Amino acid sequence: MASPREKEIYLDHNATTPLDPRVAQAMAECWAAGAGNPHSKTHKAGWRAAEQLEQARRQVAALVGCGPECIIFTSGATEANNLVILGLAASCEASSGPGHIVSSSIEHPSVREPLAALAKRGWRVEEIPVGPEGFVAPNDVAAALCADTRLVTVMAANNETGTLQPVSEIAAICRGADVPYLSDCAQAAGKITLSPFEKGPTMISLSAHKFYGPMGIGALVLSPEIALQPVTFGGGQERGLRPGTIPLPLAVGFGLAAEIAAAERVEEAQRLAGLAMRLRDGLQEIYPEMVLNGDWHARLPGTLNVRFPSIEAEELLLALPNLQLSTGSACGSGRTEPSYVLRSLGLLAEEIAQSIRIGLGRTTTEEDIETALRDFATALEKLR
Ligand code: PMP
Repeated sequence: MASPREKEIYLDHNATTPLDPRVAQAMAECWAAGAGNPHSKTHKAGWRAAEQLEQARRQVAALVGCGPECIIFTSGATEANNLVILGLAASCEASSGPGHIVSSSIEHPSVREPLAALAKRGWRVEEIPVGPEGFVAPNDVAAALCADTRLVTVMAANNETGTLQPVSEIAAICRGADVPYLSDCAQAAGKITLSPFEKGPTMISLSAHKFYGPMGIGALVLSPEIALQPVTFGGGQERGLRPGTIPLPLAVGFGLAAEIAAAERVEEAQRLAGLAMRLRDGLQEIYPEMVLNGDWHARLPGTLNVRFPSIEAEELLLALPNLQLSTGSACGSGRTEPSYVLRSLGLLAEEIAQSIRIGLGRTTTEEDIETALRDFATALEKLR
């Protein structure tokens, strides 16, 4: 049995969030019931499964404020981002050939990499840089639009810094110019208020495991009128855009997680903002030279990215064995290059090497913050 001092504290909620016990329960019941295939049309088991799937679709739609017909279930935000980018490009190539895409310098690899693949096919991909606070300026997006811009993609909340992007302003610009706008909302959904879908981005990507739902399911939110070619082919499910049997228990969990997030988000955001402020102030007291990476105000509740000048982040994490933290995103931390996100905020390589990400979440308590601060005090004293 671990003594209280050895208790591990999970502070990496941007990488993934623990499954909500209510969601785990609903999924267990669905699995135990031996649900039918929601795409079976000839018997009651199939009809019941289809009913549960449509209920999940409505719950996810309610979280983003769209109609259920706009939800395409996928395996996560990675697949949703790839489907939009590659599917839209295929549609455009069929009618007018490669064109122009406006993106930002802080997008997730699941946006950057398909864009890099398109650049090799002759597309012009323009990356809007961010300022030192970590924001894309809407005016820069407006100025970048060309007659053949086929897509704008700027995320809602960055996974490394937590900075919130001006999604509503960018959406207004794109709607005015009649250019489809994809916003990767994997980190933002269920945490902050998203703009109403009819006024917001044309397309949104979601991942259930970022808001206490199961890993392995997500969605692309897309109005039926957007022309997209499928990138995989099969049984025609999900409007033919994402063929394959939907994993019903995961969809049930996704739906419930969305409903819970919608109901509890505002109160939880306030709680997390308070805990994050206590943590930031406590760390600053312990180590006055500490620097916050990215703006303090417009950020995902509970996400901090900080650096401790003259202390290597890798060494700091080794000195904090009971705190589960990261030096960057889980998707990028297997790589050896310094974070491109922090580099685009203007940080030098040595400053990036001193930076850590702290992600508080639903399981984080006030006591956890006080314990974490004591651990930081000991570790920073030792390494100073
Ligand atoms: N976009 C962002 C901003 C993310 O943080 C992540 C997950 N790290 C993804 C997309 C991809 O989500 P998934 O791995 O669940 O497909």
